[in-house]
Amino acid sequence: MKLITTHRCTDPHDSAADMLACIYPRARHIDGAGDYAVLNHCGRGQAITLHATEDAAEDALDRLDRNGCGNACESNHASASVLWQGGGPDWQGIAREWEREAHDHQTEAIALRAQVALLTKEKA
Ligand SMILES: [Zn+2]
Ligand SMILES: [Zn+2]
Repeated sequence: MKLITTHRCTDPHDSAADMLACIYPRARHIDGAGDYAVLNHCGRGQAITLHATEDAAEDALDRLDRNGCGNACESNHASASVLWQGGGPDWQGIAREWEREAHDHQTEAIALRAQVALLTKEKA
């Protein structure tokens, strides 16, 4: 599952759906609720569904990959968790985990923490 931490504009977004609409202005639809997204890039634009938990999103992605999404399926499906202003998973926790886990992740973790610090500051 990839992490989405950046978007196109400098405005804060008040939900994952709002932030995804900024990133994917040509999305066909953004359905559901939650901070975990399944992105279907097959065809023109994107079809996006949101899920409350990472497991639910991974299950939905599995089903999509297994069954395909229709006639013109290119198997171009992905899952992502979305860090929007004031929401999303516990990124600071994830960053700490990465730093502990391995050297390779340290740069990524530091960048992620900087991003979180910026968002937290903007929110205040
Ligand atoms: Zn934006
Ligand atoms: Zn497809």
